[in-house]
Amino acid sequence: MIQFQYERVSTPAAALSALSNSGNAKFIAGGTNLVDLMKRNVMSPRKLIDINSLPLKHIEQQNGKVTIGALALNVQVADSKLILEKHPLLSQALNAGASAQIRNMATVGGNMLQRTRCHYFYDTTLPCNKREPGSGCGALQGFNRMHAIFGASEHCIAVHPSDMSVALVALDATVLVRGPKGERRIPFADFHRLPGDHPEKDTNLQANELITAVEIPDNAFNQHAHYYKVRDRASYAFALVSVAAALNIDGGMIKEARLAMGGVAHKPWRLTEAEKSLAGKPANEDSFRQAAAIAMQGAKAYKYNAFKLKLGENVIVEALKTAAQKA
Ligand SMILES: Cc1cc2nc3c(=O)[nH]c(=O)nc-3n(C[C@H](O)[C@H](O)[C@H](O)COP(=O)(O)OP(=O)(O)OC[C@H]3O[C@@H](n4cnc5c(N)ncnc54)[C@H](O)[C@@H]3O)c2cc1C
Repeated sequence: MIQFQYERVSTPAAALSALSNSGNAKFIAGGTNLVDLMKRNVMSPRKLIDINSLPLKHIEQQNGKVTIGALALNVQVADSKLILEKHPLLSQALNAGASAQIRNMATVGGNMLQRTRCHYFYDTTLPCNKREPGSGCGALQGFNRMHAIFGASEHCIAVHPSDMSVALVALDATVLVRGPKGERRIPFADFHRLPGDHPEKDTNLQANELITAVEIPDNAFNQHAHYYKVRDRASYAFALVSVAAALNIDGGMIKEARLAMGGVAHKPWRLTEAEKSLAGKPANEDSFRQAAAIAMQGAKAYKYNAFKLKLGENVIVEALKTAAQKA
């Protein structure tokens, strides 16, 4: 284990100042991902800035949106009466992730910034452009069963592992961040990046910024929403493919739809063309199959993950069917 300094801060300003005063420092929230990465020498920060005392645990409704503090625990959000009533999709996605013990520690900000579960990223004896830029991508020609079918590059085919983020991108969330120059807002769809030439960058958050909250605008998707996750074990496993589906249905007709996939790209993958195809259609299997076919256009498989193409299509249909059937 590497040696590191530890500092606890109690205000966002102190957190930012501690970060700017130290080279190679990282915030630590629940620690459920960062500490694992440090134990495996994948990340070696020289300083940990403990942000758990910051007043960022709120979950509140005001001005047509729900605001969730970056330090709200995954369990707290999933069990929140407000979230269950207004955004059940988010609650379902959170409960599909990790284990109860991890959800008791994990925070919203940490969940968004958790790193890929690609084996080549975690194994420091193997090449990985994300861990060590320029070293190559072991997964490209290697065992790529868990890997991307959308938006990959020749430098990286890893996927983003967060379930929560798939629901948040579908729900048009916005990320609130604070840095040395003040506050800024990042649409959730632009928060995570595709790998391109710089797979070492997972997100558009700057190294000197703190996530303070996530906002979800009010919507009419709380009746018909479903998060469907397919994984190797029934619990405590990352998604092979997951789908967040939400429908606004009136008299059997779809007024509006939201769809996003997990386990298929370097970022939570929003399916806007498929959403558009659903608007104005009857809420039935034909419409869902057409939307799924549109959603999967442009998907590209590698040697061991071709099963995701058919699986992805079927999971979209099943997620939409289940969402539509909810009373
Ligand atoms: C065995 C296991 C199984 C899992 N299964 C799943 C699963 O199925 N689905 C799923 O979605 N997740 C899963 N997870 C991942 C888990 O959800 C994440 O580890 C957790 O959400 C990370 O949150 P944290 O608060 O512990 O983050 P930390 O580990 O504390 O931090 C993670 C990163 O975020 C940064 N950070 C944290 N908060 C902020 C902030 N406010 N501003 C800026 N930077 C910040 C830290 O510097 C660090 O780089 C699993 C984890 C384990 C160990």
